[in-house]
Amino acid sequence: MQSAEPTAGVDLLSRLSNALLSTTVDDRSAAIRTAAAAVAEYAGASRVLVHETVVGGGPDETYEWTRPGEPSDAGAPPGTVLPLMFQGSQVGTLILQHPREAQSLPDAVLGAAAQVIAAGLAGARAIGQAAAAEQRARAMLDDIGAVVVRVGPDGRVTFVNQAWTTLTGIAFHDIVGKDAMHHVHPDDRILAAQHMAALIGGSAESREVRFLARDGDPRWMEVKGRALFDGGGAVAGFAGILHDVTERRGAELQARDARGRAEHAQAVAERANQAKSDFLSRMSHELRTPLNAIVGFSELLECSDLEPDDAECVTQIVRAGRHLLDLVTEALDVNRIESGQLPVRLASIPVGEVVADCAALLRPAAAERRLTIRHLRAGQPDARVWADPQRLKQALLNVFSNAVKYSHPGGTVTVDCYPLDLETPFGRESDGGWLRIAVTDTGIGIPADRLDDVFLPFERIGAERTEVEGTGLGLALTRSLVEAMSGQIRVHSVQGVGTTFQIDLPAAAPVPDQPVPAS
Ligand code: ADP
Repeated sequence: MQSAEPTAGVDLLSRLSNALLSTTVDDRSAAIRTAAAAVAEYAGASRVLVHETVVGGGPDETYEWTRPGEPSDAGAPPGTVLPLMFQGSQVGTLILQHPREAQSLPDAVLGAAAQVIAAGLAGARAIGQAAAAEQRARAMLDDIGAVVVRVGPDGRVTFVNQAWTTLTGIAFHDIVGKDAMHHVHPDDRILAAQHMAALIGGSAESREVRFLARDGDPRWMEVKGRALFDGGGAVAGFAGILHDVTERRGAELQARDARGRAEHAQAVAERANQAKSDFLSRMSHELRTPLNAIVGFSELLECSDLEPDDAECVTQIVRAGRHLLDLVTEALDVNRIESGQLPVRLASIPVGEVVADCAALLRPAAAERRLTIRHLRAGQPDARVWADPQRLKQALLNVFSNAVKYSHPGGTVTVDCYPLDLETPFGRESDGGWLRIAVTDTGIGIPADRLDDVFLPFERIGAERTEVEGTGLGLALTRSLVEAMSGQIRVHSVQGVGTTFQIDLPAAAPVPDQPVPAS
């Protein structure tokens, strides 16, 4: 029967302490096996098993040491079995096989060894659990998508999560331990310092601050944070969450730029338009005064006794002068309408009267071309529209005079005026809301593909190559006038057959005795 040296027990306990009480997660298994080997050596056992009971449902772990050359004999009966107890709970079992005779072993040493191994198991487990918890916490922080940062009381970064590196390209070890301001854009450092001061003061406000990425590009981050205090009330650092708002800021900047450019362009266009209007109205005024004199005096000359050649020249002067006067007047009107300077005063007016006035004015020209003017329903006394009498007359005169100008000699110009009917599921019904004035001629017509062009300023659709005088402004002006009175103008035409212009205006209640307001 052998007896262990008393110093061997002390030696065993110190070897166990060294092996187990400073283990890390990574060398835990190796440390437990080293402990098992030390116990086996001390006890002369051929195999030592450390059986760890895993708390929380996981599978139990067994660490084994077998003397080299010994057959592994898992089925052999256990020699000595010692419970591994820590703080009143069993954390495992220590099993020694083929030990020396049990009674020769000092129980106290093995009991103490079991306590050290139990403490080692429990400690290592606690470390492992803490490491796993930290791992989980880090993974959660990395999954957040926002940057999580902690700064110490000295202003140095103590922690950032993976999102920081993903966003900025700056590695964890390149920021941790550095001054937190180091990566803030120089222009925003004062703002960031003010923010930190505000956080110490209890503010919960967030700020948008630029951080510099690894490539030097600024990234806008919305910083939400709070100051941390120790038990004595001193600042212990800061914790913050940073959201990348670079794209939003970029979009806002672009929108602001675009708005600025649009406003600038609009201001320039408005100034240019105003300058054009001013120029046109001054020019037309300057032109009209001498033109009126030219036309007036040449008309006087026309009446005097002249040689035929001279009379012809004067007639040309009168015609050219009148044409110029028309051009200047219409150009000015178009310009005034476009710039909203042509006032339109709406009133309930009898259409028949306006139509009759226009027809009377054009009768001499129509007679010259041997045209017949026919009125259909235009004479109805109760047909009234909401319009500016002067502007309606101007619009109708344009359409009428075109019908006369572009008609074949001996043709017919027909004026009709009727309430607009609506197609309904119950048949045709008058909606009473609109009145149509239609002027139809039996003239040269307009090519189908040029119908829309007739309303464009200075567009004469080939009439400039004919003898028919005109400025190309009449219909552009007419459309503007009609639209200014909330109406619509349309054209239908068949080339070589004739043309119809329709002017639709809001109908007014039939009050024949209502006075026409002065325009
Ligand atoms: P213009 O002073 O040339 O008559 P308008 O603006 O009044 O200018 O008309 C534009 C063009 O539309 C005319 O030049 C002409 O070619 C065409 N047009 C207008 N009315 C008629 C019509 N009743 N019949 C045929 N062509 C027309």
